[in-house]
Amino acid sequence: MSEPHLRLTDVHRQYGTGETSIRVLEKANLSVSSGELVAIVAPSGAGKSTLLHLSGLLERPQSGEIEITGTKTFHLNERGRTLLRRHTIGYVYQFHHLLPEFSALENVSIPQLIAGKRQADANRRSLELLELLGIGNRASHRPAELSGGEQQRVAIARAAANHPQVILADEPTGNLDPATSDLVFSALRELIRGEGAAGLIATHNHDLARRADRIVTIRDGLVSDLVL
Ligand code: ADP
Repeated sequence: MSEPHLRLTDVHRQYGTGETSIRVLEKANLSVSSGELVAIVAPSGAGKSTLLHLSGLLERPQSGEIEITGTKTFHLNERGRTLLRRHTIGYVYQFHHLLPEFSALENVSIPQLIAGKRQADANRRSLELLELLGIGNRASHRPAELSGGEQQRVAIARAAANHPQVILADEPTGNLDPATSDLVFSALRELIRGEGAAGLIATHNHDLARRADRIVTIRDGLVSDLVL
């Protein structure tokens, strides 16, 4: 079997030191393969965002290793982490954070232009992604002219724009009604499978979590499998 795209080994993360410190992850282990979607379901405060931030190289663990497509990151400097993050990781937030003055197409093209792609190639890729997510006909609209579900699908397209090997999403359907949540989750799942990315999604929605390939939870600082 091929190397997992995302692997956490014995990850320890605590906030603060001494008596007031909070140990969020004690010895967390998790692997996510290419094309696999893993849902994280755990109570508020259990460490879901921490796990996603660590996986996205936005935070550092005190100890343990986080590998992105086999590249060990513990000893990387900030520059190395930034470059790896830019080229291999796509992040979807609960609030879409689209740039309001740009169209859907431009929002998806901008990260590609930053990565050095030519405008025509970036636009082609953006349109392909928007069509894949069922919103090709909304490409020229600005975020304010789109529904919540459409905005979130643009945010998913933007996260996938540079062909990331890892796609992370923190409550991506948290603000959407059930029918739209379903649509957005399906779009994300198809994209992860189609692109062969490793997907890790935090969600409170058990119905959606059951449609992932695997469900994990965080308990006593450990990541363990969960059956819902
Ligand atoms: P979840 O996403 O599951 O709600 P978080 O990962 O946000 O949980 O938080 C896990 C625990 O770590 C919580 O107790 C939270 O208060 C604490 N925590 C998170 N970030 C910080 C921080 N920057 N400083 C101190 N404590 C933090």
